[in-house]
Amino acid sequence: MRQRVLLHLAVLVLLPSATVLAVSPDDPPECKECRQLCNMMDQMLQHEAIAGFYWKYAFKNPNRVSAKSSDEIFNQVKDVDFAAWGKTRPWPCGAPKGGGGPTEVDLETNDSTGNPPCAIFWGSNELYKGDTYQRFTQGKCSDIYQPTIKHEEKHQQDCKAAKAMNQSLFDNPPMWAQSEFEANSLHAKVLRQEIRQFINSSPSGCGWEPTDGQKNDPNSIPSVKQMQKMHERDEQIRHFLDMAFGPGD
Ligand SMILES: [Zn+2]
Repeated sequence: MRQRVLLHLAVLVLLPSATVLAVSPDDPPECKECRQLCNMMDQMLQHEAIAGFYWKYAFKNPNRVSAKSSDEIFNQVKDVDFAAWGKTRPWPCGAPKGGGGPTEVDLETNDSTGNPPCAIFWGSNELYKGDTYQRFTQGKCSDIYQPTIKHEEKHQQDCKAAKAMNQSLFDNPPMWAQSEFEANSLHAKVLRQEIRQFINSSPSGCGWEPTDGQKNDPNSIPSVKQMQKMHERDEQIRHFLDMAFGPGD
């Protein structure tokens, strides 16, 4: 698939403009608001689902389905599996009006045959060249973009291993699918950890009312239903405050 091979897929559902994503002290203030939680869960659910779709073709799956090319796998995952999932998927922030939002490719990693090989790109720019990283992260929540970067770094690592053997990851469909399975699994896992840390650092626990089972598990996170409730309550409080004091930012 052309010079710059998609090793990715960091799909990103477009978020309402006011809540454009970003970590660090440079994060916009809204990144610390509890309403970010459902966005993080939304991303987590997407990457968990995508990991599952790639597993079907992955090298380490003893029952893997064979494919002629990585392109074939990519198109199947994107246009068939992920599209079908999107029709009945859970919406932790509530279902968007008019159905699901468009998905967008975020970062990509070059294949070992790319120029330069195994480099991470944002659009047509290398992520770590010039001011690209700064522009990529600006105005975004680090809780969202850092897992995306970890995802690409996993591909980069796999790409370098393939290159060391004079091979192309993309030309090896089961290995490529394995890389996508692992990168998406990691992406979801980091988001899951961040969700719990976010709740732990919130004085109100973001309104989560854990069950006894959840209370006993320091790694548990809210269920989708609980998250929907937390989000609704948060929106109601916002609405009330807007009515009482006028809209904030
Ligand atoms: Zn990927």
